[in-house]
Amino acid sequence: MRVTVVGAGVIGLTCAVRLLEEGHRVDVLARDLPLETTSAVAAAIWYPYRAFPFDHVLAWSARSYDVFAGLAGVDGAGVTMRGGIELFAARQDEPWWRSAVPALDHVPPPAGYGDGFGQLWVHDTRRNTLTLLFESPSRTVLELPDNLCISPRKCALLCEDGPVENFLRGVTPDGKIFDFAFNAIAGRQQEEFAGSTFTPDGKVLFVNIQASSGLTFAIWGPWKRGVL
Ligand SMILES: Cc1cc2nc3c(=O)[nH]c(=O)nc-3n(C[C@H](O)[C@H](O)[C@H](O)COP(=O)(O)OP(=O)(O)OC[C@H]3O[C@@H](n4cnc5c(N)ncnc54)[C@H](O)[C@@H]3O)c2cc1C
Repeated sequence: MRVTVVGAGVIGLTCAVRLLEEGHRVDVLARDLPLETTSAVAAAIWYPYRAFPFDHVLAWSARSYDVFAGLAGVDGAGVTMRGGIELFAARQDEPWWRSAVPALDHVPPPAGYGDGFGQLWVHDTRRNTLTLLFESPSRTVLELPDNLCISPRKCALLCEDGPVENFLRGVTPDGKIFDFAFNAIAGRQQEEFAGSTFTPDGKVLFVNIQASSGLTFAIWGPWKRGVL
């Protein structure tokens, strides 16, 4: 059969290779070349995400895992098997994809782990030092920030991912914390902030609420009166 595959990312190229292996004649049409696609720059970790239905995704994921494990032994395939540890703030049930990874194991948490609500560390790459700039004393001050950006005046703007309510909180270069914004959307206050970033001219702050239906906000200041 003659087949045309549209797209030259990982999905298009994988389809094309598999069809070729089955003896079909394959052409690939794409707007962007393989090295210009999302596939060429995004991370490529095996991890079943929020895709549905779970039973189908589990079967596909398990099959992919087996194929990747096989490719890891092939020179030049670009697939590497590496162990990793996933850390959670609280004890978790077995993941729904557990059966796809027979080697999955539980690591006991280190002493003191999970007692805190968030820390901000500064890595000085020239001096090669790691300094604790701020540690949350309670969940009302700072709770579980998991991504940040640096403002034009060198404050860190932290995006909280807490289970109850979520803030954008700023931390000044000398370690003082302040509230910048609060997710007050009725019924969605447990949804996390994510992906804060300033435009290169520092005039607009973009930030998302990442959840069932994502939202992106553009915040235009005025910035002169604040510390950001
Ligand atoms: C930051 C980030 C991190 C990620 N991390 C992971 C991860 O760890 N593990 C994981 O499994 N996945 C991850 N993903 C998701 C993964 O990268 C994508 O699901 C995957 O790359 C999609 O591949 P694709 O081939 O469908 O699309 P793409 O790589 O986007 O390729 C699309 C192709 O279609 C072509 N095309 C589009 N429109 C047209 C058109 N109208 N006409 C002709 N051609 C067209 C494009 O030019 C391109 O060649 C991540 C994604 C991002 C953004």
